[in-house]
Amino acid sequence: MNLDQIQALISANAERYAKKHGVTIDREFLFLKLMEESGELAEAMLIHEGQCRTRKKVDQAEAKLQLENELADVLGTVLLMASVFDVDVLSALDRKTLQKGKKYLEEQGK
Ligand SMILES: [Mg+2]
Repeated sequence: MNLDQIQALISANAERYAKKHGVTIDREFLFLKLMEESGELAEAMLIHEGQCRTRKKVDQAEAKLQLENELADVLGTVLLMASVFDVDVLSALDRKTLQKGKKYLEEQGK
């Protein structure tokens, strides 16, 4: 599956979510959702690292699943934002990070 296909499915899921919950998924909503999901990721990280309240502690497999789920929520929200803002996120990632990584590897002889 390529990124366009992934973003199309994320958009379809967002449409389903909007209909189910009666919300409008616009730019403001997406920004606030990203903040919400970032908070959930922070909580999942704290639980995963055992740095949470006793009542929130779960076994390591459940903690890893929660961390995976919240990372997916953040990534999905970012990819939906890229679609809504008509941003070619792969090009931006290449420009901002991948090229620098390639250059670094070349400099290190790797
Ligand atoms: Mg979440």
